[in-house]
Amino acid sequence: MDDQTAIRTEGLTKYYGKVHALEDLDLEIPVGEVFGFLGPNGAGKTTTIRTMMDEIRPTKGRASILGMDTHEKSVEIRRHIGYLPGDLALYPNLTGKDILTYFANLRRGVDWSYVETLRARLDVDLSQKVGNLSSGNRQKVGLIQAFMSKPKALIMDEPSSGLDPLIQRELQKMMREAADEGCTVFLSSHTLSEVQRVADRVGIIRHGHLITVEAVSTLRSKAMRRVELELDVTADPRVFEAVPGVSDVDVENHRVSMSFGGDMGALLKAAAEHYAVIDISSQEADLEEIFLTYYRDEKVTA
Ligand code: ATP
Repeated sequence: MDDQTAIRTEGLTKYYGKVHALEDLDLEIPVGEVFGFLGPNGAGKTTTIRTMMDEIRPTKGRASILGMDTHEKSVEIRRHIGYLPGDLALYPNLTGKDILTYFANLRRGVDWSYVETLRARLDVDLSQKVGNLSSGNRQKVGLIQAFMSKPKALIMDEPSSGLDPLIQRELQKMMREAADEGCTVFLSSHTLSEVQRVADRVGIIRHGHLITVEAVSTLRSKAMRRVELELDVTADPRVFEAVPGVSDVDVENHRVSMSFGGDMGALLKAAAEHYAVIDISSQEADLEEIFLTYYRDEKVTA
């Protein structure tokens, strides 16, 4: 085994009849990395995770986790990793505590004081029957289950789904802390901002194809933004159109807005050279716009 690689997929492919859910996925995720797997609904994220977890067999290709083949060593792998499936099904008549006890027994014990720490951080009542919990609170029970054994790798399908923003932040901290202790974290998400906050690198998947894998810092600098400036006078759009990465310039009185995917310094310089800038707002592009950025790049290089 290559000690530096925690999760590897090679040509991982899954067809459901005519549906090409996942096509030839190659990933290499080093130990201790937080890797965000980003894509819209139906992109193939769950298919990837379920294939990695040996819940479904790939049409082609293979995967390994902690150096073990995910099919041949699926039982052994589960002993070392924490897994949060996307379709978390918990027995409704059991309490959160019962469920965690069940999982703890499968793992031959767990540090209950750590479980209490996780419970307090995520703020959930484990004495309630899970059937009576909201979906967000059920998700928290699933998260405690994934984290509680201090696993070497965490694989989580949309871990923040149903959580309110404060708890999402807490979960992001928990992921970061786990990674700082050497745990490799693989999470799927359809929210760019979430993944940007927590991940070291992001893989973007769409229609079963991996579009790119980027460091979060690169993604941010490449990503399209909507930038709006308030100026002392009405702008000449040509000033902004001349800046590399600017498109769709729209002038309305003293406000000028544009799509922008480039060096923010260059844009601000151009603005300041010609006008007094009174206010500026820059809004992150959504996932669709990011995809467009990459498609445009693909076309340019094609
Ligand atoms: P979501 O965020 O909605 O969960 P996803 O990125 O996880 O999306 P997948 O659930 O992996 O996407 O689905 C990928 C594609 O495979 C979709 O077109 C989906 O309809 C299809 N698909 C998934 N499971 C099956 C199945 N059991 N049979 C047939 N098609 C399937």
